[in-house]
Amino acid sequence: MDFNLLQQLVDTPGVSGREERVRDLVHEQMTALGAQTTVDAMGSLIGHLPGKGPKVAMVAHMDEIGFLVSKIESQGFIRVMPVGGIDPRVFGAQKVMVHGRRDLPGMVGSVPPHLLKKAGGGENKEAVPIEESFIDLGLPAEEVAAQVRVGDPVTFATAGWQNEHAFFAKALDDRVGLWVMLTAARQARQIDADLFLIASTQEEYGLRGAGPAIFGVGPQIALALEGTVASDTPGLKLPPNTMTTAQGKGAEIRLTDRGMIADRPLADFLMGLADRAQIPYQVIVKNTGATDATAGQVTGPGVKVGTLSVPTRYLHAPVGMIRKSDAVHTVDWVRLFLEHASEFMA
Ligand SMILES: [Zn+2]
Repeated sequence: MDFNLLQQLVDTPGVSGREERVRDLVHEQMTALGAQTTVDAMGSLIGHLPGKGPKVAMVAHMDEIGFLVSKIESQGFIRVMPVGGIDPRVFGAQKVMVHGRRDLPGMVGSVPPHLLKKAGGGENKEAVPIEESFIDLGLPAEEVAAQVRVGDPVTFATAGWQNEHAFFAKALDDRVGLWVMLTAARQARQIDADLFLIASTQEEYGLRGAGPAIFGVGPQIALALEGTVASDTPGLKLPPNTMTTAQGKGAEIRLTDRGMIADRPLADFLMGLADRAQIPYQVIVKNTGATDATAGQVTGPGVKVGTLSVPTRYLHAPVGMIRKSDAVHTVDWVRLFLEHASEFMA
């Protein structure tokens, strides 16, 4: 399967509210699929592939966690505000890109161990809050002042890379969802639905773009496509009743999360399709996390929703990782759904 598009998607910056560069890329892809596209007031991109069958929306969010410039210090150091859930312990010493009048590579400043004792009196193991950290662009203060404005977006400057089995990148949440959506729509032999592809905005700032976009479309079924937590790593102690995914076992289908109870007949239909095609999957019941399905389910008269996700290690960190086989199984599953959607509504 072609991971070049995923590479392009993860390497394109798109902090919540500033998704335009990702939108341009997805727009090209939707146009190549023959979709009629519109952009709504929230900036979500909606592609329509008219067809017979139920009105189906697939939704994946374009935005990624990141930062906005909140202050430019007189010496040229930059302060930022986080956008989305970011652990300050993974912020220090990272490479970042400040998207000013041009893209400016920089790094998050950190205190060298040589100075730690002198500065703090003893070892300080506490992470520096993101708002108290600073970005160093290595440029003269006047150059920073000319290039950067308060409100400019900042992303982790991690380019994606891959090997035979895995794909490593920032922003897999949710570029992998966009990749699944576009790849499944391209590979489907026929589309058994009146299909809308929604590339939503501002998910990481509180599921803000998907609700209006799904309301605008008014589908019978909405399927959110996501990267979800994989916690199959050493030393992680979770309570015994906490379910999350492991990699290598296929896509996650969640029946519940913090804000959603999936439509059970739809979930059963999806699992039946996967069983018949021997596509592996993992069923998760949890009361944490939320996706665009949460926002979409309760718009208008209500929508039947489901969420399929690719298990992703190290979510919301400067680099995460997916297993390629899980991503491929997710595409196969979504493709099957597109080819058989009317059987659900029959
Ligand atoms: Zn997400």
